[in-house]
Parts: sequence; C-alpha cells; structure tokens
Amino acid sequence: MKKGMIIVVNILMLVMGILLAVVYSSHLTSERTELTRDAFKSTVEAMVQVSMSQLSMQQEHVNNWCDYINARDLTMEEAMEFLRGICTGDEVQAQLIDPETLAGFSTRENVQQAGDYAVDYWRYSATVTDNFQKMMAEESSEDSLYVSSSYSNPIDGMPVVAFGRKVQLRSETGAQKEYLLLRVVYLEKIQDQWVFPTGYEDAEIGLITTEGSYIIQSSSMKSENFFEFIRAYNSLTYPQMDELQEQMNSTESGILEYKNARGADAYWVYAGLDGNFGNWMIVGYVPVDSLETYGTDWPLVFMVVGILMVLFLIDGAYFAVMNRRLRQSMEEAKEANQAKTRFLSSMSHDIRTPMNAIIGMTTIAKAQADDPQRLHDCLDKITIASNHLLTLINDILDISRVESGRLVLNPTVFSLEDMLENLQNIMRPQITAKGQDFQVCRVHLVQNYLYADELRLNQIFINILSNAVKYTQNGGRITLTMQEEPLAEDRVRLIYIVADTGIGMDDKLMETIFQPFTRAKDSRIDTIEGSGLGLAIVKQMVDAMDGSITVESELGEGSVFRVELDLPVAGQPGEESPLEVLRERQLAGEQAPEESAADGGSETAQPGEENIAAEPAEESADEDSETSLEGMHLLIAEDNNMNWEIIHELLSYCNIESDRAENGQICVRKLLEAPEGTYRAVLMDIQMPVMNGREATRVIRDSDVEWVRNIPIIAMTADAFAEDVRLCLEAGMNGHIAKPIDMKLLMKELRKL
Ligand code: ADP
Repeated sequence: MKKGMIIVVNILMLVMGILLAVVYSSHLTSERTELTRDAFKSTVEAMVQVSMSQLSMQQEHVNNWCDYINARDLTMEEAMEFLRGICTGDEVQAQLIDPETLAGFSTRENVQQAGDYAVDYWRYSATVTDNFQKMMAEESSEDSLYVSSSYSNPIDGMPVVAFGRKVQLRSETGAQKEYLLLRVVYLEKIQDQWVFPTGYEDAEIGLITTEGSYIIQSSSMKSENFFEFIRAYNSLTYPQMDELQEQMNSTESGILEYKNARGADAYWVYAGLDGNFGNWMIVGYVPVDSLETYGTDWPLVFMVVGILMVLFLIDGAYFAVMNRRLRQSMEEAKEANQAKTRFLSSMSHDIRTPMNAIIGMTTIAKAQADDPQRLHDCLDKITIASNHLLTLINDILDISRVESGRLVLNPTVFSLEDMLENLQNIMRPQITAKGQDFQVCRVHLVQNYLYADELRLNQIFINILSNAVKYTQNGGRITLTMQEEPLAEDRVRLIYIVADTGIGMDDKLMETIFQPFTRAKDSRIDTIEGSGLGLAIVKQMVDAMDGSITVESELGEGSVFRVELDLPVAGQPGEESPLEVLRERQLAGEQAPEESAADGGSETAQPGEENIAAEPAEESADEDSETSLEGMHLLIAEDNNMNWEIIHELLSYCNIESDRAENGQICVRKLLEAPEGTYRAVLMDIQMPVMNGREATRVIRDSDVEWVRNIPIIAMTADAFAEDVRLCLEAGMNGHIAKPIDMKLLMKELRKL
C-alpha cells in the first residue's frame, strides 16, 4: 500500500472513531435525559396525591366547623367565639364573611391595628370574589373542594388561599342568614408540604385551573394566566396557545418543554386534580439545567480521540521505521549486489591478464621451439604469470571464505621470536634486491609464547610488510616495530607497526584501502604486481581476531600501518592436534627463506594448508631428496589423464617409479593384487568416478592385508579448504597436498615416510 493511502485510511478511521464516540455519547445522553424527564414526571404525579389529601384535609376542617355551627344555631358572636377557640395558633385562621357586604370578622386581629378583627373584601378582584360567590352557590357535598385562588390576606397581606362553606347564623332578629365561613391557609404552608426529593432543588409546584388561572402561583410562573405566560415567553401564536390548553385539559398528565421567564429550557409537568370549580391542574416546573442531565460525554469523546490519535501516531512511527529499514536494506542489498558485480568483473579482468600471458607465451614458445634461449625466456614468463594467477586465486579464496563466514581460526601456541625471524627471512631477499634500509625494533617483547592462529597472523604481517617493500622505491627505508603491552589476566596487546618512506597514499585511496580490488590509480602502481585483495584480507582477518588496523599515510612521504591484537599468553607450546601438526609442516615447507627468494612474482602468496601451493611444479626436488627417494615405487590414484602425465613425469625426474589407478576401486584392487611391499605409498586424488579417494582410503584401512592396511596415503587434490583436509585425515589419510602440486612439498612429505 502506498504511504498516502495509509495516511488517508488512518484519517478515515480516526474520523469514524470520533463520529462513533459522539453518536454513542449522544445516544447515552438522550437515554439519560429521557430517564430524568420521566423521573420528574413521576415525582410530580406522586405529589398530586399528596396535594389532594392535603387539600381534602383542609376542606374537611371547614366542613366540621360548618356542621358544628349549623347544628347549634349560633349567632355571629357565638360562632366567632367558637372559631377563636379552635384557631389558636398563627397558622390557621377563620373568617366569617357576609356575602352581601363582603365584610366580616377574622379570628385574628389586624397586624396593623391591634384589637381590630374586622375584614372586608370590597376592593378584591373579581377572581377572588367570584370564588366566594361560587362557594356560596354550591350545594354542600362532603367530598367537594371549595377553594379560592390565592390572594393577599386582608389581615396581614400574606398570600393565602381560603377553603370555604356557607353557614347559617341567627341574627338579632332571630332570622337565619347565610354567611361564608373561610378557613384561610397561608400559601407558604401548603407549599411547604410539597417537598421535592433531593435533586429537584430548583423545582416548583403551582395549581392552575383549566383556564390557566393560578390557584397557587409558584414564583417561576408569571403573568395572570399560565397559558398566557407560556405563550408570551415562548413566542407562541394564539392558536398554538389554545392547542396547548386543549392538550393539557384533554390528557390526564404529561410533560412539556418550554422556556421559563429567563429564557432557559424547563420541563413543565401537569396532572389533573379534581376540584369543585371544574378541573384543576397541578403544574410542576424544573429548569432542565438544574437536573442532572448529561450533555455530549466529552471526556468519553476526548478519550476515544486520544486513543485513536496515539494509535495513529504509533502506526505512523512504526511504518516510518519499517520503511526506513526496508529502504536501508534495499540500498544495502543493491550496494552488495553492485559490489559483487564489481568484484566479479575485477576478478575476471585480473584472472584474464596472467592467463593472457600464459596462453600468449605458450603460443610464442611453440613457434620458437628451435630457439632454446627464447623458449626458456617464454617459460620463465609463463612461470611468473602462473604464480601471479595462483596468488590471485588464493586471495580470492581467502576473501570469499571470510565473507561466507567459513574462516575458522585455529589458535595454537607459537613463538613470537620465531615468527619475527621467519618474517625477516621471507622478506629480506626482496628488501636486499631493492637496496632498501630495513630496521627491526623489538619493544618490550617479554612474552615469547602466545596463543593465536599463527598462520593467519603470519599472513597479516607478511601482507603489510610486503606492501611496504613493494610500494617503496629502491633505497627507501622500512621500519618494522613489534611491541608488547601487558594486559590483565595473562594477556598482552601485540602491536605491529610497519613504516615506510614509499609512495604513500592520498586520503581518497585510504578511505577504501581495505575494500577488495582497491589499488591506487597511479602509473607506478600499474607496474607493480598486485590484485588489490591483500589489505581486504588482512582487515577481515584482523577483525576475525577482534583486533584493529589503522593506516596513516601521505602521498610521496610514506605510510605507517599499525595492527593491534589482544592475545592470550601461553606458558609453553601446548599439545597439538594432527591437523595442526600437518599445518605446521606445510607452513614450514612454504616459508623457507630460500623459497621466498625464488618466489619472483608472488610476494603476497600466502602460506596455508587450504591455499593452492605457491609454486606449481616448476622445478624438481633438490639433490638430497633425489638420492634419498630414488627407486621409490608409488601407486597414484588419478582419473585425469593430463594430471597423471604431469605427476608421473615429474616423479620420474626424481627417479621415482609410479603406477596409475584410474579410480578408487582400481586403486584398492591393485594394492590387494600386488605382492607385499610393492608400493611405498599411495597418492590419492579425491574426486574420482566409481569410488572416490576417501571411500577408497576407508576400504584400504579396513583391509585384512597388513601392509596394505598400513600403507601411507597422501591426499593429492584440488579440494583445498580446511574442511577438505579434515575430511581426508578423518578418512584415514596421512597427509594432504593441494593441487597444483608443489614438488618440493611432495618430496618433503615423501621423505618423511
Ligand atoms: P595489492 O598490493 O595487491 O595491490 P593491497 O590490498 O595489498 O593490494 O593494497 C591495495 C592498494 O593500497 C595498493 O594497490 C596500493 O595502492 C596501496 N598500498 C598498500 N600498501 C601501501 C604502502 N605501504 N604504500 C603505498 N601504497 C600502499
């Protein structure tokens, strides 16, 4: 998926998440709001019951008073006295009013005028006086309510309601006259009974008629009429107002949402209440804000958004890191691929160059067969080119072995002094030939026996030193410093410094000096043999030993190479495995000083059991060996005709007789058929048809014939890796010689027999 696409998908997911959170939260909110609305409605409805019983109770009191007075045929004074006796407290008072004059007496005195018990309702509005008229007109019925709208009490101006009944009183003339008996109750007292449960602190209750007139007007109910109030503060039209009135009158109860006088949303719950003046309604009011309603649950929304954002960021960061890694590994792969291509083309070029010399010189030699001088010259040149080719192949093998992780270090105990001595012996002939001044400084060399892969160490030291010799002009100076620094726990830091006054290097070259096929682009360099692989191998081997290598150089001034290796100190040379013994032997064979001197074009040729021998069958063995080996009879298992011809011929120069076996099976058969002691040893090729060399060796080692079972077998093969050597020894062979055959090495091996 493209990056942009991923971002778009992520953003879409984010938006969807937020929407879902908002929708879910709103859904929750509306559910909760619904619940609070219903709860408030139920509360008001419950209060209707409370109000009904409270109002009925008040009415019952009046009814009892009436019954008492009517039954006793009392005068106004007598009735007032009775009433005063009953209404002793502040809360309740009774008034007896003459309906014609709207004047009468109260059980309590006027607060403004002590001793004045007279009351009158002349100046009261029609709403109040009409109520009184209606009370007088009603026929007595036990369970009817006769209540007035609220008004201010003539005695003290406090808001009150009056429960009334008509009573018969006797006048001075003895005639009966009807009066209105009022039980005046403070509104406050009634409202005190309407206690809302907690959570409804701002709730109020009022009592209205079906026309909207207030019987009990709560403080949030404005205007003269409830419907008029709702219309005015909610911008309703008159038809809408009539509709509201119709709705409230036709249903038993309900809940409405209208603004209050302050313009805030409020719930209005109405419920019918049976009264004597048509139907009354109780109206509960509560501002929406004061209820525990929930708006959009923003914390929830923010939480969801937060989580999504974090996910989004983590996602983004993860993708960014992954992308960077992918890009990096892609570039690395590309780089590695290019390096491989460069390596192959360099290799191809470097192999073709000496091959060209070999083939060319061979052609010339053939044409000049009559001229022994010219022939010899050609063969010399072929030898030089072959040696160079061999060096190159050995280097390439080393490089690929290290790169494929097949380089296994084989540490053994070795003598540093011997190694130093050896090093000088190998290099001195070339140094002398170039007339260079060579100094060796030993600094603090206390520990002689160290533990390391001696072979590889040698390879490192020789490579660096031979470069110094190669890239320093005749008569230049080369200084080798070998130094030891003691470390803790029986270890020393071995420091190897080679300084020369040679051609030096520029900074650009030094950057890639340790990469394969790096060579200075210099006409002088072109005339010096080299593959550009030596330092790459050195660097990898130093790395394998956990050491370090540095170089300082200045063009035209000279160079200083410095290698540091931390090595364990060994007390005495330890026990060595057969493999190590073999290696040592081969090493000794390759490192003899006189051999190096003869080694014209292969200064960098590396000693090593895996390496193809540094000098192909160039010359036969020396005088000593010729005499000692004369008359020896060998059996040679070799499937390749040319190889057989070469080895047979070369051995014959040393007066060594040889028979051929074309494969392992023939080899075994020939041995078993031969009379005892016919062959002194077997030279065994490994890769052969029918039966390979290792199988044949195993058969021979298992043979019943004693001399056959114990015959020395030397592997003679192009399988030159350490692993191949190990397999040969495991199969029961006694030695290993790599092809192309180094006759001196072979003679040495044979002489040991
Ligand atoms: P080779 O010597 O086979 O070319 P190396 O890997 O040993 O390959 O060296 C790489 C290059 O580094 C050389 O070709 C040369 O240009 C430069 N070089 C190495 N050692 C020295 C030295 N002591 N003085 C100057 N140049 C050197």
